[in-house]
Amino acid sequence: MRALFFFFFFLWFFCSVLFIRPCVHARILAEYSLAAVQPATVEYDDVSNATWQDFTRFLDAGVGAHVVGMSELKRYFSRFGYLSPLPAAENLTDVFDGNFESAVVRYQNKLGIPVTGKLDAGTISAIMAPRCGVSDEDGHGGGGGYHSLRATRHYAYFYGRPRWGRGSPSTLTYAFSPNNTVSYLDPGDVRATFRRAFSRWSAVIPVSFEEVEYNGAADIRIAFYRGAHGDGEPFDGVLGVLAHAFSPENGMFHLDGAERWSVDFRKEKSKAAVDLESVATHEIGHILGLSHSSVKEAVMYPSLSPRTTKAELRIDDVEGVQALYGSNPNFKLSSLLESENSSNHGGAGLRGIRRFSAAAAMWTAAVVLALLSCP
Ligand SMILES: [Zn+2]
Ligand SMILES: [Zn+2]
Repeated sequence: MRALFFFFFFLWFFCSVLFIRPCVHARILAEYSLAAVQPATVEYDDVSNATWQDFTRFLDAGVGAHVVGMSELKRYFSRFGYLSPLPAAENLTDVFDGNFESAVVRYQNKLGIPVTGKLDAGTISAIMAPRCGVSDEDGHGGGGGYHSLRATRHYAYFYGRPRWGRGSPSTLTYAFSPNNTVSYLDPGDVRATFRRAFSRWSAVIPVSFEEVEYNGAADIRIAFYRGAHGDGEPFDGVLGVLAHAFSPENGMFHLDGAERWSVDFRKEKSKAAVDLESVATHEIGHILGLSHSSVKEAVMYPSLSPRTTKAELRIDDVEGVQALYGSNPNFKLSSLLESENSSNHGGAGLRGIRRFSAAAAMWTAAVVLALLSCP
């Protein structure tokens, strides 16, 4: 009992010291959960001029707001398929109008974030996150496409649901451009990374991949480019758009050469480093015919934070690609279901949740005490 008394006394004392002076800050913390507001600017402070980092100035804008530069954000929404038909550049204003609000709602729906129609903290944070350059606009009438009224979120296809029309099983060849590479990565590491990424997909569908010489005849052609590179989709420098690939049977697979690509985060220490294997696995999904999924855990979700690995296919990815190509006879969906369930509800997950609950309770107590202590 005495121990409990001392614990709460210590908690009260600690919180008072921490929060009484900056009461205004404590209120802001309570109201906006600022810790979750701008992870991008805080986390990547060494790349504060990275693409889209200045979108924080639109925080909390809603219908009727007029913020200088809002037209830039409208261009972002147009580019990724949320504002259509694409307004002419000269017609884009800095006013947050009803049409733009609908685009924000569509974006929030697609990205699986709370639908508010405003540029709230979660939405701005999602917008600033590095992502794939492929538009989120789904195919219409292709089946499996996202629809705003759909209750369940899942995988999607490109317009017309294109796929590689070879017999089954089939082999697709891939090749690396010998000239358009990144000098700081060992070519052997890059090839091994892509081999693993391709093997994830070939494990679930009756399609295999084989590396060949780069002579233009390969089905899939992989290259690193900086800026404009002739396909009308220029890259934008550090973070922002990371890569893009085209739907079947185009086969073009481009990565932004301005990124700090990593094949091993133990060796690559840059805060802006991007996991090559995760991005490669995602872009191969496009090459095969998947567009962006609204399932956050899926490999085909459009964004990926720096220093994050997300290369394991999830059930959503597998179901999407198997609907196009059928299943690899050696693959068992049940084993993936089991492993996904155990990772969602297993011991480690539960321990994490309990630890989080305890931390959340502590912080809630701290904020409440700080607010009570304010005059
Ligand atoms: Zn993508
Ligand atoms: Zn390109």
